[in-house]
Amino acid sequence: MGEEEDNLNKMNKIVIAIDGFSSTGKSTIAKQLAKQLNYIYVDTGAMYRAVTYFALDNNLIGEGFFHSEKLIDKLDDIHITFKFNEALGFAEVYLNGKNIEKAIRTLKVSSYVSPIATISEVRQKLVEQQQLMGKDKGIVMDGRDIGTVVFPNAELKVFMTASAETRAQRRYKELLERGHNLSYDEVLENVTTRDRIDSTREDSPLVKAEDAIEIDNSNLTIEEQLETLLKFAKTKV
Ligand code: C5P
Repeated sequence: MGEEEDNLNKMNKIVIAIDGFSSTGKSTIAKQLAKQLNYIYVDTGAMYRAVTYFALDNNLIGEGFFHSEKLIDKLDDIHITFKFNEALGFAEVYLNGKNIEKAIRTLKVSSYVSPIATISEVRQKLVEQQQLMGKDKGIVMDGRDIGTVVFPNAELKVFMTASAETRAQRRYKELLERGHNLSYDEVLENVTTRDRIDSTREDSPLVKAEDAIEIDNSNLTIEEQLETLLKFAKTKV
């Protein structure tokens, strides 16, 4: 590809940042949006979950303890990659070559991930990797700090919200379908605790970027959300 063509290609592609509270359905929408636009989709929550999985596996965090300094020392041993799964239609996350896509979706990982995500050294490592993945644009990335920290110049920023009960209900249903045995109250507690930690941490707290479009999807179908976002995306391309 010539330099001019390469530049043209980049010009037409945009960065779409989707942030919001836990279980707002960001990844469902982001995946479908990426598919429609033929963009790459990156689930940054999966990266924080991968670090959490590593910390649990190495006894660096658990009931009543968190050896954050040791985790920081071991950050170079953590290699997170994504590999597209044709059958599923999205990229699965790998930790040091091992597929951990399913293993990171447990309530255990969910209950330790927010404290892990407060560590600046962890964030710095992951944000660098995320910025590299989006350097050629044509990317839909979801998380908590994408429009504020990772891509403050993203052409389209979306902030998704829904009531805590709606979100917990969705997550509860999803976990039950996957065969997890837990109560709705446990899920609600996890969702609200994560929101509190994510919104009040010092480094890159979850806040709506000033120029983000806010979508409360409590009463919106996936099709309605997708239609709205595609319209916005088209005005920015
Ligand atoms: O998106 P998901 O719910 O999988 O994210 C798990 C956790 O990872 C969040 O609750 C938050 O603590 C952390 N996270 C973050 N920054 C991001 C993405 C996720 O701090 N960009």
